[in-house]
Amino acid sequence: LYPTADLRARDAAHHFHPFTDTGALNREGVRVITSAEGVWLTDSDGNRYLDGMAGLWCCQVGHGRGEIVDAVEKQMRELDYYNTFFKTSHPPVIALSERLAQLSPPQFNRVFFTSSGSEANDTVFRMVRTYWDLMGKPEKKTIIGRWNGYHGSTLAGTSLGGMTGMHAQGDLPVPGVHHIPQPYWFGEGGEMSPDEFGLWAARELERAIDVLGEGKVAAFIAEPIQGAGGVIIPPDSYWPEVARICRDRDILLVADEVICGFGRLGSWFGSQHYGIEPDLMPIAKGLSSGYLPIGGVMIADRVAEAFIDKGGEFYHGYTYSGHPACCAAALANLDIMVRERLVERVADDIGPYLQQRWKALGDHPLVGEARMVGLVGALELVPAKGDRSRKFAPVGEVGTLCRDISFGNGLVMRAVRDSMIISPPLVLTHEEADELVARAARTLDETYAALKK
Ligand code: PLP
Repeated sequence: LYPTADLRARDAAHHFHPFTDTGALNREGVRVITSAEGVWLTDSDGNRYLDGMAGLWCCQVGHGRGEIVDAVEKQMRELDYYNTFFKTSHPPVIALSERLAQLSPPQFNRVFFTSSGSEANDTVFRMVRTYWDLMGKPEKKTIIGRWNGYHGSTLAGTSLGGMTGMHAQGDLPVPGVHHIPQPYWFGEGGEMSPDEFGLWAARELERAIDVLGEGKVAAFIAEPIQGAGGVIIPPDSYWPEVARICRDRDILLVADEVICGFGRLGSWFGSQHYGIEPDLMPIAKGLSSGYLPIGGVMIADRVAEAFIDKGGEFYHGYTYSGHPACCAAALANLDIMVRERLVERVADDIGPYLQQRWKALGDHPLVGEARMVGLVGALELVPAKGDRSRKFAPVGEVGTLCRDISFGNGLVMRAVRDSMIISPPLVLTHEEADELVARAARTLDETYAALKK
């Protein structure tokens, strides 16, 4: 076994963590994960956890797939690194570009590569404004996002996202970004039916365009289902209306597929699940199942052709755009997904299987709503079952307690405020799904009992 106390002390002394309360970390110490196989993680004390979050919503094919490791090794021995700037390319980036064009809806034939979802959204930010410049409409600059949306942690990603806590750190958003309400019926729908509320939330986009001026708005960006915001599944009425508004008002529609892409909702892309046709799709995470960092922006012909036809250079790119080893990892990952029919599995088999059992947790006295699409879901913990207007105070304490109890039960769930989130690997078996639900149920019981004390 590993020397856990020593690892914790060295981590606390020298590692400044992302998205972590550094004070709490220094008091309590980190959990040190040392190995992983399939849907299982092992920590430095030998405890095993079911990885209910697929890492950070990304490990579609499960951990420890030697085939990806072999593909990366082979690529690194052949061409370790070269760039894709200045009219240069290499076989793995060409193969992956072609593969993505084949897997995505017909309007997408080109992809711009990045190392992450955040960089993908920085690319989106500059690309949509440059597109309208090229189209002779340079006034179309404002990008509309949603409150509680998440599009990454860079300046553009944080600005496009609608996390007020993030905005407060660094004086964001940058100018030219506007936010509208999220389609969060459980938390914010009031007395409206889900479909009435979905239409209302979609029409907030139209109202914002009217206020800002149609000639000033470049794009609307949204996740098909908000992930980090708490797995906010929009009412059925929402997306068709948003798509109509974007079409009618001539603004680009950007579907952030960083979580919803690559099978998470039971289709290759989340926008296909909702039947919408975006102009740009930022991607990352499931593209390589997280084995190596790679992301990108899928570009619809309408946008790509403006750049090609008008000529000139898009002054944008990253040293690691289309890194050969990362492309090799993504290709091997996509091979596994196709061969094992993981997307179809989520649609027809493990998706419905887990959804049914997960939704049954909605009967628990602590749960106000249990929701799931594909293999991504949430449990809304509430103080008074049946009363959507009542929330725990202070917000988030019960969620954090429940998350810690869940770890104790060998299940990784994430807490977003007082919602418990699950997004397991797509290779989850029926037995593992049963185990996941049993551990979640035990966690709810223990959390409920702790609150009664
Ligand atoms: N967009 C969405 C929808 C995300 O969920 C995330 C990460 O969770 C990002 C963008 C940022 O991706 P990354 O962490 O790879 O920069």
